[in-house]
Amino acid sequence: SGPGPELRGRRIVVLGTGWGSASLVKALGEAAAYDRVTVVSPRNYFLFTPMLAGAAVGTVEYRSITEPVRKLNRHVDYLEATARRIDFGGRRVECESVVCEGTSCTIEAFEVPYDALVVSVGATTNTFGISGVREHCLFLKQVQDAEALRRAVGNALERANLPTATDDEKRRALSFVVVGAGPTGVEFCSELKDFLEAEASRYYPELLPFARVTLLEATSAVLGAFDESLRDVALAELRRERVTVSRRGRGGEAALSVVAPVDVRLGAPVRRVNETHVLVGDRDAVPYGLCVWAGGNAPVAVVSESIEALGHPQLDAQPACRGRLAVDAHLRVLG
Ligand SMILES: Cc1cc2nc3c(=O)[nH]c(=O)nc-3n(C[C@H](O)[C@H](O)[C@H](O)COP(=O)(O)OP(=O)(O)OC[C@H]3O[C@@H](n4cnc5c(N)ncnc54)[C@H](O)[C@@H]3O)c2cc1C
Repeated sequence: SGPGPELRGRRIVVLGTGWGSASLVKALGEAAAYDRVTVVSPRNYFLFTPMLAGAAVGTVEYRSITEPVRKLNRHVDYLEATARRIDFGGRRVECESVVCEGTSCTIEAFEVPYDALVVSVGATTNTFGISGVREHCLFLKQVQDAEALRRAVGNALERANLPTATDDEKRRALSFVVVGAGPTGVEFCSELKDFLEAEASRYYPELLPFARVTLLEATSAVLGAFDESLRDVALAELRRERVTVSRRGRGGEAALSVVAPVDVRLGAPVRRVNETHVLVGDRDAVPYGLCVWAGGNAPVAVVSESIEALGHPQLDAQPACRGRLAVDAHLRVLG
């Protein structure tokens, strides 16, 4: 039956198609038909992030971890665009969409008015402005990142497999460096280790001795936000050597392959990344063939801009909120 007539026909705008917004859009169900619900996001699908690291090494396929926004709730409209600015006084969102025809793309700007606005735009990767990270590292936030990583891991193995590759070149190509021992970094290291054990040992057994995974963490612990007992288990698991049996070809001789423990370096702040090395602290330079940056989250631009625009209730809360929008007990944005 839906809500009473006084509540019908509102323009509800939802920014984002991630965990927060997708849950809301789903939960609205049929009720969305009584209002005009518009979802604005550069991504027209929900992404199941916990399996992204698995997708990056081929354990799961991308289509298994995404769900089109239009399937979440057929009563909502969707606009593929990025919210650039929220005009809180005028109750409208300024949006931009990249529109491509063939190889030429233009930016289309437009406004979406609202009666109620839900901001659920998540966060972006924090590089802390460290030189070389954007240019040389891979990330793990979106499907495109996982695709790029999967390609890069495959390329590293094929490069090392060439008959011209020297042992040093093999070692370099197969030096996988992960920066940041939060959940994303730890998860990716584990997936990579599983991949080396289960897949690389079957198809590239001769290369396994050259493969190394190094995890660099600025603080003194892995999974800093987790309980100590969990941190200990994670660290022990990362540092465990794995032995696997591999067989070359049908009827080939079985051989034992060793997957080296992850070289976990704590208290290792990354200062710079260049084309070949990750520079750690004042002295260390860790060579890499592939470097994944999982250093943490930063606010997306529209959130930072909104905090400034909303003024002191938001700015006062920033020591605790650290770049996030401050809300009250009902998740209403302060200001
Ligand atoms: C690899 C990985 C593994 C993870 N594993 C776990 C796990 O196992 N367990 C767990 O609890 N958490 C996990 N997380 C964290 C979890 O994904 C986040 O906490 C969660 O995504 C936050 O939800 P959100 O809705 O705030 O943002 P997101 O899910 O990030 O969604 C943000 C949405 O906003 C859109 N957007 C961004 N900018 C704009 C804009 N300007 N305008 C409009 N739309 C915009 C994005 O495209 C996206 O659709 C993981 C994260 C990653 C990256």
